[in-house]
Amino acid sequence: MTYQKIVVPADGQKITIENGKLNVPDNPILAFIEGDGIGYDITKASKRIWDAAVQAAYGGQRKVAWLEIYAGEKAAQQYNGDYMPAETFEAMREFIVGIKGPLTTPIGGGFRSLNVTLRQVLDLYACVRPVRWYEGIPSPVKRPQDVNMTIFRENTEDVYAGIEYESGTPENKKLAKFLREEMGAKFFEDAGLGIKPISAFATKRLVRKAIRQALDAGLKTVTLVHKGNIQKFTEGAFRKWGYEVAKEEFGDVTITEDELWNNFNGKQPAGKVVINDRIADIIFQHTLLRPTEFNVLATPNLNGDYLSDALAAQVGGLGIAPGANIGDYIALFEATHGTAPKYTNLDKVNPGSLLFSGCMMLEYIGWREAAQKIEQAFAKTVSQKIVTYDFARQMDGAKEVKTSEFASAVIQNL
Ligand code: NAP
Repeated sequence: MTYQKIVVPADGQKITIENGKLNVPDNPILAFIEGDGIGYDITKASKRIWDAAVQAAYGGQRKVAWLEIYAGEKAAQQYNGDYMPAETFEAMREFIVGIKGPLTTPIGGGFRSLNVTLRQVLDLYACVRPVRWYEGIPSPVKRPQDVNMTIFRENTEDVYAGIEYESGTPENKKLAKFLREEMGAKFFEDAGLGIKPISAFATKRLVRKAIRQALDAGLKTVTLVHKGNIQKFTEGAFRKWGYEVAKEEFGDVTITEDELWNNFNGKQPAGKVVINDRIADIIFQHTLLRPTEFNVLATPNLNGDYLSDALAAQVGGLGIAPGANIGDYIALFEATHGTAPKYTNLDKVNPGSLLFSGCMMLEYIGWREAAQKIEQAFAKTVSQKIVTYDFARQMDGAKEVKTSEFASAVIQNL
């Protein structure tokens, strides 16, 4: 594939897919999108740390070849006003794994959101958010060390399907007439209308990924989070199809919570993941009061949206929460916060979210040692009270440093 603006590094090799698995060379090409606003500062700082950690973990035997691809304002400069150039998608398809900083969605640019567009075009159907606490990080809860969960949130249906009809429009009137006259539905005259599709196909591929994660990581439970007590044929169906995929495809390695109590007296047998489900409202209480009971949470789009941010707050907030959007193979890791425009080019903000998303990326390609080195060095740096402004304002006696200085301190601690 030849590209117009993207320069493929000569010293790297492509990640490929062989027998359903990623085949990762020692010098893989990994794509990155710098991002708008604070994207420049956090990407620059994080790349220094990722490279140093890979060097520290593998002593020069492994090295990332970075491939810059473009989206957002930097793309608009490069591609004559095009905020989302087609070759960015092509490069992600060709090179499979990448990471991105936050993006501003141009007002009136014809996009609902650049982030949503990336997810939809590349069919990155699982939004994956691990939530865990690192020693020393300020937290509003008493025992943040008990929080260690990964949320798998469906990325293509539910509210993200974006099927809405504005009150007063001809489309709204047509749908309202059909719903009232042919389906017997009752609702107020001026209601805006939205459709919430949830399918067996999308639910099963999401829950399948969540169960695989639990199995790979040796975790105990996968919890299906839904509002099926009210919306039986969408949220309730998510629950039903979640249990179905567990039984049909992982029947020998999973049991339901009912089976756990009926057949095993509540004692989890070795090698089996328990599949259970919780109503979306109660999960907020349970994850706050009894976080150790949960490992992997699989959710439809909207429930997962709320839950991801609430859980991130328990362990230090969005400034350090990592995330990824993953399809069958293509994976785009991302900072979960926005562009924080008021801090653009001030070298001020916390690079943690992007940095830890990079750790997820290193784990995704099987370079766990490098990821662990970063996690340990980050924790050590925070415990030395060397932190960016956001943590400094929550800690006594902290030394506030710039983004680049924080990166240097983490590298020292690798
Ligand atoms: P935001 O950029 O996340 O910033 C909100 C606040 O969060 C900041 O003012 C700052 O708090 C804190 N914050 C964010 N990143 C931080 C970091 N790295 N370190 C420390 N603190 C950090 O949210 P927003 O202001 O609502 O959105 C701004 C733009 O970002 C919008 O154009 C939006 O569309 C876009 N956005 C993009 C993404 C994405 O690309 N994934 C996600 C969300 C929003 P303080 O003011 O308290 O210091």
